[in-house]
Amino acid sequence: MVRTCISGSVDNSDTVAGFVIVLACVVAGVLIRALVKPRRDAETRCRKCGYILRGLVEPRCSECGEAI
Ligand SMILES: [Zn+2]
Repeated sequence: MVRTCISGSVDNSDTVAGFVIVLACVVAGVLIRALVKPRRDAETRCRKCGYILRGLVEPRCSECGEAI
């Protein structure tokens, strides 16, 4: 009975540790995606009019003149 209790608790902690590692990987992946996506949008679109700023030479929006 005692042995079963101990092995049961050890198995449970291993499962929890594995779950925490998997959860950490998932959270890290979601965080990286969340951090990268808005940054890309801010760089490629004008904050004022939403014009796509890809391939611009000047640091200004060619549609409304807003500084980037
Ligand atoms: Zn603009």
